[in-house]
Parts: sequence; structure tokens; C-alpha cells
Amino acid sequence: MANEITRKGKTCSICQECGFAYETKELAERCEAWCRSHNSCNIDITKNAVKF
Ligand SMILES: [Zn+2]
Repeated sequence: MANEITRKGKTCSICQECGFAYETKELAERCEAWCRSHNSCNIDITKNAVKF
């Protein structure tokens, strides 16, 4: 389950596997599912990551 954090009033979801942050829980969970089964990151997913 993706962690949620709030920074500057914005809520982000964190992939627990790779630590990337996403604007939506859906993206974080997709990343997490990918990371877990492939043991690597999917660039099509991580390109949606947000910096904070
Ligand atoms: Zn990930």
C-alpha cells in the first residue's frame, strides 16, 4: 500500500519499493506493483513522478 505524505498542502503518494512520489495514489500503486514484480522501475511510470 502506497504511503501518503503531504508537502506544502499537496498530497503525494510514495512507492514503497523505489521511493518515487506521485500525485495520485493510483500511479504510486502501479509503480509499486511494477517494482515488486520486476525488481526495477518502469520509465513510463516513473516519468510521472513528482519532485518535492
Ligand atoms: Zn516504484
